Amino acid sequence: MNHINHHPDDATLLSYAAGALPQPFAVLIDCHLQQCPQCHEKIFKAEALAGEFIEHSPPVEANNSDALRDKFFAALDTEPAPQQLAHSAGNEVQLPAEIAAVLSGRDQELPWRLIVPGMHSITLSSGELHHNSLNNNESSLKLLRIAPGRNLPMHSHQGSELTMVLQGAFQDELGCFRPGDVADLDHEVEHQPITIGNEACICLVAMDAPLEFKSLVPKLLQPFIGF
Ligand SMILES: [Zn+2]
Repeated sequence: MNHINHHPDDATLLSYAAGALPQPFAVLIDCHLQQCPQCHEKIFKAEALAGEFIEHSPPVEANNSDALRDKFFAALDTEPAPQQLAHSAGNEVQLPAEIAAVLSGRDQELPWRLIVPGMHSITLSSGELHHNSLNNNESSLKLLRIAPGRNLPMHSHQGSELTMVLQGAFQDELGCFRPGDVADLDHEVEHQPITIGNEACICLVAMDAPLEFKSLVPKLLQPFIGF
């Protein structure tokens, strides 16, 4: 339905299929899978392969993990299966109510918290999330609403960050991100997103460490804005 141009990395999808992503990241991937048949197909293959390995393979030794990983990735690159199967990932998942509200255009009803002028956020609590987390670390899931024409301060990341656009669009050094697109970032990427178009950009953001801002003012503000 959508023309999605930016997808999560294969490594991220593989971690999702293995149930190894922290809860906030898994919820964001669920959200993407609902809109992206291409990644949905990859998850299906990864899960099928994982099942096959468990049934038919001898126990994988530690020094074989690279070979296992290579085989997964090779399989992900093959042609799509002939038909989409009714599959667990994506379709049956109930997303947190706040995300559903944004997706159905009811974002005005949400209890947005002002961070700085032009920017609001909502932190989704773990009680509202539906995945069982294997990792109980510092990761978090937020909705971020940025007014038209605003930009975020230049920053990089101490950990991983997944951002999915739910409404509106933003642009950064990596390209233009529209609804359904996912930016899969790690500490090597430094960027300064700016909203484009006439409507606010609402993103779902999963991160496992605070952002690293490059200038002093955001650094000073950081303890107060919750990022
Ligand atoms: Zn995708």
